[in-house]
Parts: sequence; structure tokens; C-alpha cells
Amino acid sequence: MRDGILVINAGSSSIKFSLYIANGDEKPLLSCKGQVEGINVSPHFVAKAPHGAVLNEQRWPDQPNLSHSALFKYMIDWIESQLGDAQLKAAGHRVVHGGSQYAQPLLIDDDLMVELEKLVPLAPLHQPHNLAPIRALKEVHPELLQVACFDTAFHRSNPWTSQSFALPRKITGEGVKRYGFHGLSYEYIARQLGQIAPAVARGKVVVCHLGSGASMCAISEGKSIASTMGFTALDGLPMGTRTGTLDAGVVLYLLQQKGMSAKEIEDMLYKQSGLIGVSGVSNDMRVLLESSEPHAAEAVELFVYRISRELGSLAAAMGGIDALVFTAGIGEHSPKVRSLVCEHAQWLGVTIDEDANKHNAQLISTIDSPVSIWVIPTDEEMMIAKHTREVLHSIKA
Ligand code: ADP
Repeated sequence: MRDGILVINAGSSSIKFSLYIANGDEKPLLSCKGQVEGINVSPHFVAKAPHGAVLNEQRWPDQPNLSHSALFKYMIDWIESQLGDAQLKAAGHRVVHGGSQYAQPLLIDDDLMVELEKLVPLAPLHQPHNLAPIRALKEVHPELLQVACFDTAFHRSNPWTSQSFALPRKITGEGVKRYGFHGLSYEYIARQLGQIAPAVARGKVVVCHLGSGASMCAISEGKSIASTMGFTALDGLPMGTRTGTLDAGVVLYLLQQKGMSAKEIEDMLYKQSGLIGVSGVSNDMRVLLESSEPHAAEAVELFVYRISRELGSLAAAMGGIDALVFTAGIGEHSPKVRSLVCEHAQWLGVTIDEDANKHNAQLISTIDSPVSIWVIPTDEEMMIAKHTREVLHSIKA
């Protein structure tokens, strides 16, 4: 009997899924993936085969407010119709926050759910949406094993200095510290690099996860040492619509001098800043690179500048750098951004092979570059599927 492993990544307006089928100890294979999106506006379900062919599509034009749970039930029923001779063995969930305590994926039980609920104030925009499908799935399949995979877990190896703000100890003690995010992506990249170039993976590596959310991570001997995101996923690099690092004094100014409400400031920092805020054109790097608007060029320039500054900082945290890895939408697909970042990083011994870069090759540094440069596609869903199987196997053992 083959094992079905369901991976769920739920947000405020969408629930994404990937179904993997695993045979014995073999690597899980993606069977299909899809999502329900437009929840509470105009719900739309689409499921696709691994190569992109649409397998099923459904809209509910007469029921824009169809509940989360009804949509979830539709999705689960469809997924189960795709199992063939496989049996659904477990579901792995992306859970954004595991707090200070959870450094690896965990089997979910009622006690863990209570603990994860307590972390909602630390990630109010994401954690409740991550937890809702765990409960919904338990209603439909009370016996199904469910595993929580945390975006923060990979960074629990950071030294205390990297995890701390210089705030009064009482506030730090309440959990106001740097957690770091995109951990599942970094862990996947660390494992991939370990297979592609084991000696490199044992060294000092900076990974640039440049998607619509963007961050960077210093990984030494396979362990996270520091990253650019902090207490929330707002910190660090400018992103599609998020500011990245901001002098906290700006928030005080907006509150005290401009009379803005907390909600208005939240909207500005999360939705109207970053690439869209600086360019006034788009949050999409492709559009900015093709635009002739001067502000679009400035948004790209600022993005690259901030990556360069962080690169120096992360190299300092490790006492050097042996390799640089680009991943996620921009990192995997934009030779231009990679080239600009590497140009700024020449002082660190980073020398790009522009021909390899142009072709999105896996290794894009020159033969004599002291720092090797890699392009490695990330796959957070596969990381969750692997973790879920590992937890499953540890229970059986
Ligand atoms: P998410 O964080 O939503 O998972 P992705 O990793 O898919 O994001 O990255 C999305 C971003 O990747 C888009 O905003 C787009 O700007 C960028 N992107 C995708 N393809 C290219 C490309 N060929 N050149 C430049 N940027 C690209």
C-alpha cells in the first residue's frame, strides 16, 4: 500500500495543498497540487497535475461567503478522490510560529494546539489561519496523524545575541525577540546543497530567499546562525509590499505626529511599502525591471542595496562566507538581480560567471571565484512532506 501525504499551507484568503505519494522509503512524489482562493470574496478551487495541467476547477458565483469549512470539505473530498490505491497517512501543516520552544516538526495533539494558540499574538495575521485547517481536518478525519512544521524552527540554532533585541529583560522575557522566518525554505536549501555540493554545505553559506516575501539567512555547517527577519516577517529586506527594516522611531512619528491608527500603520508597513511603495508602479520585480519609470529603477536599486548590506552583516555573523545561494521567484529567475547583487559583493570574493547566470545555471560563479554562487529552487511543500514522513516513521519505529 502506498502512503498519501497531504501538505497544507493556509493563509487569510487562500488554502494551498499538495498531495504526495510515497512508496516505502522512496522520496515522496508530488501527485497534484492546488488551492482554494478568494475566500469570502469569490471562492475559486483549482487543482493541477505536477506539470501544470488543470485537473479540476470550481467556482461558487452565487455563494461568495461560502464558509472556510465548506470550502475545505470540498477540497478534501476532491483530494481523496485522487488517492487511487494509496491511503492518506498523514497531513503536514505549515505553521508560521513555533515560538522559542519548538525547534523541529511535531505531531499535533490537543496539548500542542493549546500551546500554538498561545502564540497567536506573536503572528496574528498568520497563525490563526494556519491552525484552522488542523481543526477542520480533525473533524473530518479524527484518526489522521497531523504534523506541524514551523517557519521559525530552523532558526532556533541562532546564538542568543542573534535572537535578542536590546530591550528591557522583562519585555524580552515575554517573547519579544528575533525568531526568523522562511525556515522551511532554508532547511530545504541546506539539505539540497548538502546533496549537490557536500563540502560547500559544511562551510559558511548565505542564502537569499527572494520572493514576494524576501529574507536572507547565514547557515554555518548546515545550521542557521542569523537571518534578516526578526520578531515578525516585516523585518529585514524590502519586499513586494513590506518595508523591511525600519527605524522604530518612524512608527512613533506616524502615531504621534501624523495621528495614524495602529491599523493604518499596519496597512502601510505590510501592504503599501517595499517595491510597490518605492516604485509606485508594481510589487512585481518583472514589471519593475521592464519599466522605464525612474522610480521603478530606484526600487530595484534600493532592493539590491539592502541585500548587499545584509550580505556583509550575515558574513560578519559567521566570520566569513564560502558560498552564496539564490532562491525563490526573484532569486531563481532574475539574472539581472543576481548580477547586481554579485557586483556589489565583489569585495567579499564573489565573482559571477555572467554566461552561466544568464542561463539560470545551478552554479553561476567563475572557476576561480573564492565564493561559489548557486541557484537552487526552493520547495517548502516538499520539506513539509519529508518532515511529515519522518515524524510518521519515528512513531512506527
Ligand atoms: P512567494 O513569496 O509569493 O512564494 P515567489 O517565490 O513565487 O513568491 O516569488 C514571486 C516573485 O518572483 C514575484 O513577485 C516576481 O516579482 C518574481 N519573479 C518571478 N519570475 C521572475 C523573473 N523572471 N524575473 C524577475 N522576477 C521574477
